[in-house]
Amino acid sequence: MREEEIAAGLAAVHERIGAACAAAGRDPGEVTLVVVTKTYPASDVQVLAKLGVTDVGENRDQEAAPKAEEVAALGAQVRWHFVGQLQRNKCRSVVGYADAVHSIDGVRLARALAGAAQRHRERPLDVLVQVSIDGDPARGGAVVGATVDPDRDFDRVALTVAEAAPLRLAGVMAVAPLHWSPEAAFERLTEVSARLRAAHPEATAVSAGMSADLEAAIGYGATHVRIGSAVLGTRPKLR
Ligand SMILES: *Cc1c(COP(=O)(O)O)cnc(C)c1O
Repeated sequence: MREEEIAAGLAAVHERIGAACAAAGRDPGEVTLVVVTKTYPASDVQVLAKLGVTDVGENRDQEAAPKAEEVAALGAQVRWHFVGQLQRNKCRSVVGYADAVHSIDGVRLARALAGAAQRHRERPLDVLVQVSIDGDPARGGAVVGATVDPDRDFDRVALTVAEAAPLRLAGVMAVAPLHWSPEAAFERLTEVSARLRAAHPEATAVSAGMSADLEAAIGYGATHVRIGSAVLGTRPKLR
């Protein structure tokens, strides 16, 4: 039974979150579990909602948009977090269903999202600035400090979001680079979060941690963990 499978995965993840919070002296109520449902059907989201999950994540608009519609039609209510690389021409679609976007890493992208939100939604959209932990501009994330590309400058991206009325600057997000230890990566993210909060005290969210490294993320102060496979099972390989 799919529901039993998902319930077991969910229980195991809640146990890991609880243990990590206990080890870090944190209250589990400070950590929001976002179950990343990419590659899994709307029926799984319906099961998750029934099991008490309130927040789900997706990384591709092509998949997320129809799924969000299907889930709504099934009568299930969840908050959608967009966590993947976002193209400017997809902003209009994403603002239609997302409650939060974790992956804004450019000034032009932030402006495009603000414009789409202004035209196509009523409530402000929560935005997290994605941080490049290793500063490599070839991959996702805004770069802290000197960068050759001003569009990807972390402080400018954050300011653009903060000044856009249809957006609410919520915090930072990162994915630990493959060749970094999760501890080193999330320690770095904690520093960037402090830098952001110095300028924007309300931007307290820290989205960090996936199935393999949620303990390290919670140890370094994550407020949102994005968990896919540990709840739903190993995904078929993406092309
Ligand atoms: C897929 C994905 C996750 C979840 O990954 P798991 O290893 O399955 O937990 C988290 N964050 C992002 C950005 C993702 O694309």
